Amino acid sequence: ISSKELTLSVIERIQKVEDKVRAYVTINEEEALKNSEEVDNTRDFSTFLSGIPVAIKDNICTYNLRTTCSSKILENFIPPYDATVIKKLKTNNAVIIGKTNMDEFAMGSSTENSAFFPTRNPWDQTRVPGGSSGGSAAAVAADECIYALGSDTGGSIRQPANYCGVVGLKPTYGRVSRYGLVAYASSLDQIGPITKDVTDCAIVLNSICGWDEKDSTSADVPVDDFTKYLVEDVRGLRVGIPKEYMGEGIDEDVKSAVLSTAKLLEKMGAFCEEISLPHTEYALWAYYIIAPAEASSNLARYDGIRYGVRAKNYDDLIDLYKKTRSEGFGAEVKRRIMLGTYALSAGYYDAYYLKAQKVRTLVKRDFDRAFEKYDLILSPVAPSTAFKIGEMVDDPLKMYMSDVCTIPVNMAGLPAISIPVSFSNALPVGIQLIGKAFGEGTLLKVSYTLE
Ligand code: GLN
Repeated sequence: ISSKELTLSVIERIQKVEDKVRAYVTINEEEALKNSEEVDNTRDFSTFLSGIPVAIKDNICTYNLRTTCSSKILENFIPPYDATVIKKLKTNNAVIIGKTNMDEFAMGSSTENSAFFPTRNPWDQTRVPGGSSGGSAAAVAADECIYALGSDTGGSIRQPANYCGVVGLKPTYGRVSRYGLVAYASSLDQIGPITKDVTDCAIVLNSICGWDEKDSTSADVPVDDFTKYLVEDVRGLRVGIPKEYMGEGIDEDVKSAVLSTAKLLEKMGAFCEEISLPHTEYALWAYYIIAPAEASSNLARYDGIRYGVRAKNYDDLIDLYKKTRSEGFGAEVKRRIMLGTYALSAGYYDAYYLKAQKVRTLVKRDFDRAFEKYDLILSPVAPSTAFKIGEMVDDPLKMYMSDVCTIPVNMAGLPAISIPVSFSNALPVGIQLIGKAFGEGTLLKVSYTLE
């Protein structure tokens, strides 16, 4: 099959299901077809990704292709450059099929915070696909692309992958360059693959990771060929299951998916045991200080002067700022900016931001200690399966809770993968595997074995 045939079949599929799913903010049909022809003409199929259509979360900058962050304030923003991950994909002859819907500026867990429209879960269109990379996960699940990129600040790759029954990997902080990823909370953000299976996940990770001079937080560590971990072997593996992730608030079907995965791993020669990560309960609340604090600083640049949309009628410069930001940002983004500004203001810094950073260290130490004894941590991805559209929009705190199992991982900068393992009431249920820093290989090996 040629790249053009494949791209055409994906476009056909988009035409068929997109009005139900609504995964895309922008469909790059013409350009994608042109690119696929170019790949076919050069016959350069030297990499696995050559000629394969990929969907990109709309907070990753794509040269000459609109990048909105699903926000009104960037509705007309066309980046003059490619993010490093996009450059890498293009070097691999990937075909960018479109930009996917998300919670505005990646703030949310359901993609309902998009300024444009909500995306629907392909398994049940009355439910959310998760978020904030909900468009990417839904596009993969609905076969509207072959694979996708998302970003994960507190769970935004893993949770939607879980709700949509696909594979989502958040790499170690620093593994993948953030250059060209529109910053939400810079010390937590990480780009990663959302794929149909573990093999694709390893292939995509291979192509996007590595040190980048344009991102000072990217790590100068050797990059493995991750496909070499695609072997079935878990013998002798020591797996910890944190009891704090299996308690109150976690649905029974989710817990039982974790427990039956543990049983399966044991049957194949691994050793599973309950462990404790005692500071887990504080991680979520510390995150909701740190992430908004960083966001309030990162989002200061949207002033109507440098980027995107500018308010039409204003009296003076201050009025221009005010009107642009009031009209351009949605409710959740404003909430985060206010929270963050408050936490960083003089007199409150020590009480909130500094305290939250200390909690962050404690959370990280919990993991460090666990990894002295265990190779891997097994846990739920989210407290429930995909929830109903509208169910949580008026209750931000409840929405925040849907990230309790994923947020600690970002706080500690660790890699984690979400893979589907079963179904409950016709909805996918997944599990999360958390690894040591730069231990993506082990995550992939165990996931491959479980698949
Ligand atoms: N839901 C979390 C938040 O709203 C995480 C989002 C993310 O990972 N981008 O902050």
